[in-house]
Amino acid sequence: METLIDLDKKHFIHPTSSLKQQQEIGAPFIFTEGKGVYLTDLSGKKVLEGMASLWNVNVGYGRKELAEAAREQMEKLAFTNSFSSMGNEPAIRLAAKLSELTPGDLNAVFFTSSGSESNDTAYKLARYYWKIKGSPEKTKIISRKKGYHGVNIGATSATGITPFQEMTSSLAPDFLHVDTFSTDSLRKCIEIEGPDKIAAFIAEPVQGAGGVNIAPDGYFQEIRKICDENNILFIADEVITGFGRTGKMFACEHYGIVPDIMLLAKGITSGYIPLGAVVVTDRIHKELIEYSEGVLLHGYTYSGHATACAVALKNIEIIEKENLIENSRLMGQELLDGFYKLQKEIDIVGEVRTLGLIGAVEIINPVTNTRFPTHIAPKVSAEAAKRGLIIRTVVFEGMDTIVFSPPLVINKKEIEELLSILREALIAVQNSL
Ligand code: PLP
Repeated sequence: METLIDLDKKHFIHPTSSLKQQQEIGAPFIFTEGKGVYLTDLSGKKVLEGMASLWNVNVGYGRKELAEAAREQMEKLAFTNSFSSMGNEPAIRLAAKLSELTPGDLNAVFFTSSGSESNDTAYKLARYYWKIKGSPEKTKIISRKKGYHGVNIGATSATGITPFQEMTSSLAPDFLHVDTFSTDSLRKCIEIEGPDKIAAFIAEPVQGAGGVNIAPDGYFQEIRKICDENNILFIADEVITGFGRTGKMFACEHYGIVPDIMLLAKGITSGYIPLGAVVVTDRIHKELIEYSEGVLLHGYTYSGHATACAVALKNIEIIEKENLIENSRLMGQELLDGFYKLQKEIDIVGEVRTLGLIGAVEIINPVTNTRFPTHIAPKVSAEAAKRGLIIRTVVFEGMDTIVFSPPLVINKKEIEELLSILREALIAVQNSL
């Protein structure tokens, strides 16, 4: 009889995976169960999920309440479309809840099913907004180097990580990239292109897939100012950072700024069911209503999916009831303290950083104080996996970095376990060099 590994090799094309390695080595894990911060695989091996899967399982695994919310809604009304102004109760209630949670006057919501869809929706909405206001030439979208915005053709074009762009030989037009934390680079780009050609600037409040890069003080306040001065919409991609990941409900709150458009996905349902959202300010919403004519010709079959929205409402209820945002802040500090200890003890540990429960440890050659000629972080990740810890690495754009994003339910003992396995893995790799 064919094993699951055989079937996997033959039939499952995995996303963002080496197709050759899958054939040669097979799936490293086939998971069957999850509880809290732990996953168990087919062989019965239990691992601590240091990444909350893809930065998204904020409330942890095995939540019966979420299964119950989905079951209840599915039995009543699993799905009905939201086109032609038709609605369903969970979608309306979730839109109202997001309006209450998001900062400032971000009060109107367009639903999608993923972060990539939220991104492409935002680019289209921004261009549409300028077009109906009489500036159809405002089309360009400026994003940042090392930014990650997803894999739809628009989102890939906005993404500033070269290998993702090089995967395809043709990208969407009208996307520009500026230096990650340089407001001068943005100002220069606007000057060269002309503000009357630019629809929006998009940034992640903390860059995730680009290596957990945290903005210096004052950066985002300056960005907000530049966008306002030049009549450019500011889109905050909070797909990773939303719903407590950074120790606030949304990372924009750290900087006291309100974007014109906020993008959500991932933690909105803690990954229990796909859902994304694009939240716009009252001003944009009012102007869209005022200037639009006919039908807003943008919508996904699953925009406002009743079951997904019911799960999101319950997920947000859990985040609030269990004070997971406070836990993210407190456990994030524990994680950072642990990273500092590792930095003191282990020579190959370079810069470390966290904001809430998103963090990074950089690998450095202690002799030269530069990167090693080959990537070391993947070796640490492999040693950690052997010992029961899942982490991710970022090795493009000259980086050799380990990133962390555990479920927000993680407790002190589990943080200690994560740090202890990480320590063993780092020491094993250091000794092998
Ligand atoms: N935006 C950011 C900041 C992300 O990190 C991601 C995914 O990691 C996306 C967008 C794309 O989301 P999805 O994979 O749900 O399409």
